[in-house]
Amino acid sequence: MNYRQAIAEIRMAREASLVRADLKYEKALERDPELYSMELDKRDLILRAAHGEDTAARIKETDDKILQYLKQHYGSLEEFFPPYSCEKCKDTGIANGKICDCAIKLAVSQSDNIELPLNDFKDGLEGAPEELKRTYEHMRVFCDKFPDTNIKNIVLMGGSGTGKTFLMGCIAKELALRCSLMFLTAYGFNKRLTAYHTTFDDTKEGYLEPILDSDVLIIDDLGSESMLRNVTKEYLYIVINERNLKGKATLVTTNLDMKALEERYGAKTVSRLFDKNVCYAKVLKGYDLRKI
Ligand SMILES: [Zn+2]
Repeated sequence: MNYRQAIAEIRMAREASLVRADLKYEKALERDPELYSMELDKRDLILRAAHGEDTAARIKETDDKILQYLKQHYGSLEEFFPPYSCEKCKDTGIANGKICDCAIKLAVSQSDNIELPLNDFKDGLEGAPEELKRTYEHMRVFCDKFPDTNIKNIVLMGGSGTGKTFLMGCIAKELALRCSLMFLTAYGFNKRLTAYHTTFDDTKEGYLEPILDSDVLIIDDLGSESMLRNVTKEYLYIVINERNLKGKATLVTTNLDMKALEERYGAKTVSRLFDKNVCYAKVLKGYDLRKI
């Protein structure tokens, strides 16, 4: 789903809830003569206003009376005046001239963007050696502070079975509730970029926009995907660079070391990813979780 579609969906949902509320009110008018009479008064005042009479104050008065009455006799006002799902954009999908977070979240969450299992921090800590426990603690603090953290990029390196993916699954579970988050395999990431590169209709942006704008993007096992010409290397740079500029969090696990990453993706990309102002990088080593 791209943002245009997400915005359309948000606005349609708002329209639908207003229509439902109107219907409820009409039903109440049919059943409730007292309410009906107040409503008639109000409509009469509106009609007179249309003919030039100054009835604004009395309309307001009648409105207040109706509200008071609804509150007393119908309990909650919400069914007649549905609150916005998103106060920030008032369910328009646009806030302060920008795509609202709710639209980004909808675009991200709609398209099956959690590809790997989500885990609990406590499960990863059981029986883990001290060093790994410390890394878990760091990551937990990161989650607690997020998004108010200086660290935006996290790179967990090390061989297979060192618990990198499991740890990312813990982070993903913590943060997915609070923000828009994608948790992709490098294969899935590459697949989306290829789809973006080779699509030329209006679904195109739906592949790249969430990758650029989700609050958190996790790419698991970077380096395991195939290198596609004009895609893999090129878009990885665009994604990391743009996300850095926007202050978005990009989390990566990889079996490769920095040198191998540089050879594969180029120095420019690696220096953005490991930007020392925003990056926490850690090599997890020598501890095979799968042996427990
Ligand atoms: Zn919004």
